[in-house]
Amino acid sequence: MTKQTLPKSLPVLGEKVEIKYKEKVYVSGDRTDGSYAPSSLTIEIDTTNDEDKQEATLLHEILHAILDISGHADVIDDLKKEEGIVRVLERVIHKLYKRR
Ligand SMILES: [Zn+2]
Repeated sequence: MTKQTLPKSLPVLGEKVEIKYKEKVYVSGDRTDGSYAPSSLTIEIDTTNDEDKQEATLLHEILHAILDISGHADVIDDLKKEEGIVRVLERVIHKLYKRR
């Protein structure tokens, strides 16, 4: 899948999540592969990674968006725990998606 085929926005539980593609993505001053901002419902993806990595990162950030918008991020209320849940789901779902 090429960068151009990745979506510019996605509906998540009735909310429109914007997706921006940038050469460098930072969270709290640290460079990262991607980010999700709950305040603006915006995902950012680092375009210097290869397409497979961008796709996995997009999936990862969508999972954060799902947990946020559904209210489950508040229930978990622990960024490390949320990150662990998102990483395992990302790994499994990305592999399943690749096998289509
Ligand atoms: Zn994450």
